[in-house]
Amino acid sequence: MIAIVGGGIGGLAAAAFLHRAGLPVTVYEQAGQLKEVGAGVVVAPNAARLLRRLGVMDELLSRCVRLEVGWEFRRWRDGTVLSAEDLESSCERLYGEHTYTAHRADLLEVIRRAVPDEAIRLGKRCVDVVTRADRPVLRFDDGEVAEADVVVGADGVHSAIRGALAPAVPAAYSGICAFRALVPAEQAPPFARRRAQTLWIGPGHHLVHYPISAGKFVNLVAFAPAGDYSVESWTATATVEEFLAEFDGWDARLVDLIRSAGTPGRWALLDRAPLPRWTYGTVTLLGDAAHPMFPFFAQGAAQAIEDAAVLARCLAVDPADPADALRRYEELRIPRTSRIQQVSHARSHVNHLPDGPQQRARDGALAKDDPLVANGWIYGYDPEAEL
Ligand SMILES: Cc1cc2nc3c(=O)[nH]c(=O)nc-3n(C[C@H](O)[C@H](O)[C@H](O)COP(=O)(O)OP(=O)(O)OC[C@H]3O[C@@H](n4cnc5c(N)ncnc54)[C@H](O)[C@@H]3O)c2cc1C
Repeated sequence: MIAIVGGGIGGLAAAAFLHRAGLPVTVYEQAGQLKEVGAGVVVAPNAARLLRRLGVMDELLSRCVRLEVGWEFRRWRDGTVLSAEDLESSCERLYGEHTYTAHRADLLEVIRRAVPDEAIRLGKRCVDVVTRADRPVLRFDDGEVAEADVVVGADGVHSAIRGALAPAVPAAYSGICAFRALVPAEQAPPFARRRAQTLWIGPGHHLVHYPISAGKFVNLVAFAPAGDYSVESWTATATVEEFLAEFDGWDARLVDLIRSAGTPGRWALLDRAPLPRWTYGTVTLLGDAAHPMFPFFAQGAAQAIEDAAVLARCLAVDPADPADALRRYEELRIPRTSRIQQVSHARSHVNHLPDGPQQRARDGALAKDDPLVANGWIYGYDPEAEL
């Protein structure tokens, strides 16, 4: 039996791929119900390809938005378009899939449907994993103890499984925090309702918006200096006034959009270097537990879904030697996720340049660049084909 700790996007995707491979699995999720807090997620072609194989794309299509325009960079002060990508005509031609935007709750729900109900145990907070007689044993806060052949720590950025296995590496202060908010479509201006992923970039800040939930909401995610704020949590909140204060002096249309936002979430981005190792015997890590990354390439969930596909394939081809299968999984995944962690990290500097010659050089490069092609190594990747 394969025990997965954490029923987020990564844990449920792992359960779905393992189930598809005919392997028995149980997910232990600490929350009493499966839910995601209100925020959007970009489903890039590399994730869409794998979700299609899980058979969940049709359901997701009825709940998400297919983007016509992506990477539409705009200047902070007046909205001048610095570059834009025509996804409608090129994305599927290049990568066999479109790019979508979804509410995280919808993405989680469609993946859950690919996992048998009886494989999910809610209200189970894991506090420790130890190895007894070569088998991993999980301990939960209600006193339950569960043995498994393999344990997958998909328990997010503050992973208890990672804490029990790997030497603790304190997260570093990045100086950046994210505001996340939803605006009902009827209150959003027409420019924000377009099927476009728009990034407004300016000194020390940038703001991204796109429609989600079949166009019912506009998702906002904005990055700003963190000051002394250091709470890294999906449930911490800020006020609209705090959000507005960060974008004082920006294009008035953007300020109006922020004003229409519901209670914003606030998340301090903490900085973690790639881990050199995820696997300890028959226990491994997946998703944010393994490779927390800055969200500037919108790839965290997509990488967790890729991990899930690779993990299932490795365990399916080598069921008699799970430790070997997990080593292979780690070997395949660490180089790629580390590279995405690194490029995401570098983006924070580029997006936040102050007005001046460096910013003008960046804007010139943006106008010439073609991110859809330049990021082909991310979007074109098919882990199952690779294996
Ligand atoms: C502002 C922001 C914007 C983002 N935008 C995008 C985007 O556009 N596209 C994209 O692909 N990614 C994006 N991401 C990243 C993405 O959200 C994460 O990478 C993804 O959610 C990771 O999934 P996960 O399953 O590994 O972890 P999580 O989603 O954190 O799930 C972990 C699960 O484990 C459970 N858990 C935790 N501890 C325990 C325990 N001890 N016992 C049992 N259960 C436990 C939690 O309750 C939770 O359900 C963004 C991230 C941020 C911060």
